[in-house]
Amino acid sequence: MTKKTTEGGKYTSPETILTHSGRASAENSGYVNLPVFRGSTILFNTLDDLEDYKSPLRYGRNDNPTTNGLADLVSELEGAAGTVICPSGLSAVSTALLAAVSAGDELLVTDSAYDPTRIFSAEGLERFGVSVRFYAPKVGAGIAGLITDRTRAIFVESPGSLTFEMQDLRAIAKVAQERDITVIVDNSWASPLFHNPLVLGADMVLHAATKMLVGHSDAMVGTVSANEKLWPKLKRTHRILGVATSPDDAYLTLRGMRTLGLRMKHHSAQSLAFAQWLEGQPGVEQVYHPALPSDPGHAIWKRDFTGAGSLFAFRLSKRTRNAVAAMVNGFELFGMGYSWGGYESLCIPFNPTSIRTAVPWSEEGQMFRIHVGLEEIGDLQADMAAALERYRGTNE
Ligand SMILES: *Cc1c(COP(=O)(O)O)cnc(C)c1O
Repeated sequence: MTKKTTEGGKYTSPETILTHSGRASAENSGYVNLPVFRGSTILFNTLDDLEDYKSPLRYGRNDNPTTNGLADLVSELEGAAGTVICPSGLSAVSTALLAAVSAGDELLVTDSAYDPTRIFSAEGLERFGVSVRFYAPKVGAGIAGLITDRTRAIFVESPGSLTFEMQDLRAIAKVAQERDITVIVDNSWASPLFHNPLVLGADMVLHAATKMLVGHSDAMVGTVSANEKLWPKLKRTHRILGVATSPDDAYLTLRGMRTLGLRMKHHSAQSLAFAQWLEGQPGVEQVYHPALPSDPGHAIWKRDFTGAGSLFAFRLSKRTRNAVAAMVNGFELFGMGYSWGGYESLCIPFNPTSIRTAVPWSEEGQMFRIHVGLEEIGDLQADMAAALERYRGTNE
């Protein structure tokens, strides 16, 4: 947990920041990579030192040089006043929300939010006297019509988890700023490379770092960054909750982020090419990918994002469960499993109807979510083409 130190200060391009910031090499014998500092107790030499509450490293739960390096790097990329590191993406969501609302307040959450975010809001925060309302993801400036005297925060996720609706963050942030309401954005899909919500008026931005930032499916980490206004509250909330992250996992995240620029550019081009190819395959009824010109959210994506994430969805005409099984059980390259953001491709079937309350999901057909990894695209297309053929060929 640390305030931004901008080691690379004068450089603003994310590729250079990703290469040079969050390393603290000068304090670590010149080693290029920040080592893993494991520990709880930090020893003080004198009573004066012990009582100096301003010293940056006092106890392992709150202060760790490896974790601080990661926080510095994310702050610089997001243009934040400061960043806290959490032990999962979901704990980043809960920490951000707990920093923003109190008993008696009302929270607005997009209907397209990651399902555990919905559950933490509706089931968790409701227990502590916060009322939660879900809103239509495409509401835009219409959010003004949902705001009451008690509304204190708005949770945005753009594009939405699973269904990929784009949200007009600029319009929502404008309405919120006029009423002093906190806007929190889950920016996991785009990563800090392609989208910076604080610059567009949000107050906090979070990442399920487990996904793109770690990039190798081998650690659970979350980050929350805040602007100057929300940073003291975020920092304090993180501290009193005690959500400390393993320095080994912070190290893996830093390690992964050194190649985030390269990976994201490749994922962006590869996921769009794969989406375009899928649009032309027999039986594919719709592809939900905001970088496709045919996507209803394309204009917002083009205005506010500089690239696309690896993750999108597609819909096939409705068939039996056996057809879905024949399709996914026979994949050679696409894996079936939760999470995403690693180097390897994934594909899972899902049904959005049970996780919608504001805008019921009414589209007929079978939905799939796909994470396009770093394999050769022709190999992935061959694996998917064979899978689609199995789906079409199974009727019982
Ligand atoms: C996975 C995910 C999370 C939660 O991250 P975990 O590290 O799995 O807790 C939050 N938001 C989005 C958009 C995600 O995809």
